[in-house]
Amino acid sequence: MLDISTLKGKTAIITGSTSGIGLGIAQGFADAGINIVINGFGSDEQIEEAVSSVKSCGVKAIYNGADMTKPEQIAEMVNAVAEEFGSVDIVVNNAGIQTVAPVTEFPENRWDAIIAINMSSAFHMVKAALPHMHKNNWGRIINISSAHGLVASPYKSAYVTAKHGITGFTKTVALEEARSGVTCNAICPGYVFTPLVEGQIADTAKARGLSEEEVINDVLLAAQWTKKFVTVEQLAGTALFLCSDAAENITGVSVPVDGGWTSA
Ligand code: NAD
Repeated sequence: MLDISTLKGKTAIITGSTSGIGLGIAQGFADAGINIVINGFGSDEQIEEAVSSVKSCGVKAIYNGADMTKPEQIAEMVNAVAEEFGSVDIVVNNAGIQTVAPVTEFPENRWDAIIAINMSSAFHMVKAALPHMHKNNWGRIINISSAHGLVASPYKSAYVTAKHGITGFTKTVALEEARSGVTCNAICPGYVFTPLVEGQIADTAKARGLSEEEVINDVLLAAQWTKKFVTVEQLAGTALFLCSDAAENITGVSVPVDGGWTSA
């Protein structure tokens, strides 16, 4: 039987948790009794709804709007959380953006933003959080990578580059922290129907000359052998397992949750 009761009362910062996968993980963690820091952008109502839905599980929850392109805001958030909650136990590096375009037309500012948000922010978060984890000889770092951290697809050069970078960063941090009680792993989802995926359907249709329905069936789910979108609840469950004592000896791995995509 998987015991996650030891996670009760720990504190997790989940970047990009105002929507999609991050919000799903925040809800799963709050259900397990973990205090939550919601981060990301959104309307006042969206942020308020995210905070109150996790609070309804009886945990402490706050919002911090640190911009993942700004290293100083990331460090300030981590230190403010340590002060308010007394520790930073779990970090989920989840914030991410996407642009779909051929390399020859890829906008430079989108390349820079994707590398900053999807890759470099994980480095800044981990650098700021590790000293707090070391105080308790315990920590869990979970990087939300992607099947695109293991294999490529055309027209996603910046995203694939950033996610492959996360795979390497995950392994390196795992080795450096192997004896500190801190594990570092990545989760590599296939397609999850979130606003990020919804938003790229039209662009992919344009880039490939397909209808939006063809993009869903023949592009998004083409490689997903189960022919089912991954759910945020399944990702929250995977993240909780990686935080549990059962996963103490699992570190440096990239766990595909992709309906068989990267096995083919
Ligand atoms: P989403 O668009 O629903 O959520 C992205 C979150 O990141 C939002 O909360 C947004 O406000 C936040 N964010 C964006 N820029 C930010 C910034 N500068 N600073 C702080 N927060 C910022 O997307 P999602 O689908 O839930 O994706 C979450 C993560 O999962 C991403 O890293 C994405 O690459 C990864 N992923 C998604 C899928 C999928 O199919 N949806 C598949 C594999 C991996």
